[in-house]
Amino acid sequence: MTDYKNLIDGEMVDNGEWLEVLNPANEQVVGRVPACGKDELDRAVAAARRAFKDWKKTSAEERQKVVQDIAAAIKGNADELFRLLTTEQGKPHAQAQQEIYGAAGLAAAQSTLTLDDVINQDDDTRLSRTRRVPVGVVGGIVPWNFPVMMAIQKIVPALVAGCTIVLKPSPFTPLTTLRIAELIKDVVPAGTVNIITGEDLLGPMITEHPDIDKITFTGSTATGKKIMEGASGDLKRITLELGGNDASIVLPDADVEKVAEQLFWSSFSNAGQVCIAAKRVYIHKDIYDDLSKAIADYAKTVVVGDGSQQGTGVGPIQNKKQYERVLELIQDAKDNGYKFLTGGDKDPSGTGYYVPITILDNPPEDARIVAEEQFGPVMPLLKFDSIDEVIERANNSEYGLAGAVWTKDTDKGVEIAEQLETGTVWINEFMQLSPFTPFGGHKQSGFGAEYGLDGLKEFTYPQVITVKRDAAV
Ligand code: NAD
Repeated sequence: MTDYKNLIDGEMVDNGEWLEVLNPANEQVVGRVPACGKDELDRAVAAARRAFKDWKKTSAEERQKVVQDIAAAIKGNADELFRLLTTEQGKPHAQAQQEIYGAAGLAAAQSTLTLDDVINQDDDTRLSRTRRVPVGVVGGIVPWNFPVMMAIQKIVPALVAGCTIVLKPSPFTPLTTLRIAELIKDVVPAGTVNIITGEDLLGPMITEHPDIDKITFTGSTATGKKIMEGASGDLKRITLELGGNDASIVLPDADVEKVAEQLFWSSFSNAGQVCIAAKRVYIHKDIYDDLSKAIADYAKTVVVGDGSQQGTGVGPIQNKKQYERVLELIQDAKDNGYKFLTGGDKDPSGTGYYVPITILDNPPEDARIVAEEQFGPVMPLLKFDSIDEVIERANNSEYGLAGAVWTKDTDKGVEIAEQLETGTVWINEFMQLSPFTPFGGHKQSGFGAEYGLDGLKEFTYPQVITVKRDAAV
């Protein structure tokens, strides 16, 4: 077992108090991290504030260089990092590898983003220009499903915009992020990036800290609401990436054999613990029987197990609380007599937070497993009749994160996409995000956006400077 330290003001430090981190595959302690509170937070924020004075004046090229060095440090140590990520998060090695290389790729790509000045007016009377200035010290709070990707997607735009950051990983998955902190310690100027760990209680301290100017948060909608409230005291800027209950809609012209496997992974990747996983799959009645059978047949070929073992396709649930929530939703489906195509037979007594791949056969629309975000390896298949009906059912959610349409008729797909109340809709693919394309939720799935120039702008204020040219002075 290793102790991992925090990064504050360019130094790896601890406070002598520790939190244990478990491997969800076997419930063994795999590392310890500092249990920080107000004192450590104050020190990290003060360091970020000091560093901001110089960092905000750096050129785009200087920032780009630092961010590219972060990308190189992650990529250069990818082998060690993805193994550690599987150990604390549970995801299979191949998916952990994707996350680590994805995070390095995101950093490298986003290092090139710049927000150019915009000329509003340039004539004989006035020159008016909008420039973007960094908001200041950012508080970043991230969840446990993609701990590295989420940390990087907060740190990188903050730095590129000229901000400094204090980042808090989830107490369930802080290890890989702290190992990255160690790797980048000498790459980032002291105080620009600070990473501190603690229980959930540290979150509100960040949200309410008077010397933090902006919060960027990814996590549940329930916590997002608390953050909005906490940040309102001094009107901090906020970006919230929250939960989702994404619908996939499969039209009758889709090729059953070709889409079955893709639909499976759109729900079961990372054991379903993906904000943009397909959490409700609507299949047209003409192909429902064939496609549900093809998905269930494919599911039987996928191995659930320890992510560090070769051949594992679906790992454990990341933590006990989420495990119990997913089991509760499955129990609710059993109690209500809903039909299972696979799964539904979990004995919760073994070691490790494993849930068998669970596919439900057309439960009612008001079933909890349909109406709520399950965030686990459970997929409800739902039968629909008409396009108008399925659009209404897909939109009947407090969430509005993403969705997908599967059809050979891509014009029809786009027509449906335009009627869905979500931030992203994919036609014939899933979970595709680009570093240059905004990603954010409608309704209770979020506030603002990440990625692309829209995401970068959220770390800045617009400042307008006008020069009166025909002034009488
Ligand atoms: P969570 O909201 O419980 O925790 C997220 C982070 O917030 C953790 O670091 C936690 O310690 C911290 N936190 C907890 N209480 C807090 C408070 N009162 N104030 C401030 N911070 C607090 O979420 P989770 O269970 O870690 O993650 C799962 C959720 O995240 C799911 O709902 C999922 O859909 C969502 N998610 C969304 C996206 C997205 O981009 N939209 C991506 C990944 C996950």
